[in-house]
Amino acid sequence: MELYSGHINKLIDELSSLPGIGAKSAQRLAFHLINMPKERVNRLTRTIMEAKENVRYCSECYTLTDKEVCPICSSARRDRGTIMVVENSRDLAAYEKTGKYEGVYHVLHGAISPMLGIGPGDIKLKELIKRLEGDVSEVIIATNSSLEGETTAMYISKLIKPTGIKVTRIASGVPVGGDLEYIDEVTLLRALEGRTEL
Ligand code: ZN
Repeated sequence: MELYSGHINKLIDELSSLPGIGAKSAQRLAFHLINMPKERVNRLTRTIMEAKENVRYCSECYTLTDKEVCPICSSARRDRGTIMVVENSRDLAAYEKTGKYEGVYHVLHGAISPMLGIGPGDIKLKELIKRLEGDVSEVIIATNSSLEGETTAMYISKLIKPTGIKVTRIASGVPVGGDLEYIDEVTLLRALEGRTEL
């Protein structure tokens, strides 16, 4: 039996396919959207479309940005010799919020996961190796401490070692399986300061 109209069901389906949105939240959001004034719905739709059309990867660090080169990579104050490797732009934002890191980043957009069939070629790894042709003195691996994050860290360290560039891993102040974006700034800084050479 169809409880709601077909259109509402379709909207609930779309919303519940988003990360973190369960069936109940999807229903609540769908009814909220239907009850919103038309111009607000238009604005929301337009904002999503504009973000989709204008956001791209930074040509240096591959974080999501509106410009060809992101504000961090184009800042004269950042140390280009230190590259912190993170899994996604949210992790970058977490470290950036501490305000203490002065190097630049490299965003992988994922982690190696044999179980999910994600290999080294599916993340921005070639792009990282290409950057190392420049003047780089340290690569800090700040992938999550999940199985995938650790696998990725090991893989990258093996890849970089032969180049003679220093490779470090953030300390395990970050809880196992912990997503960097949920961890407070003090813990993040401690993890960064306590990094060890691989
Ligand atoms: Zn950048």
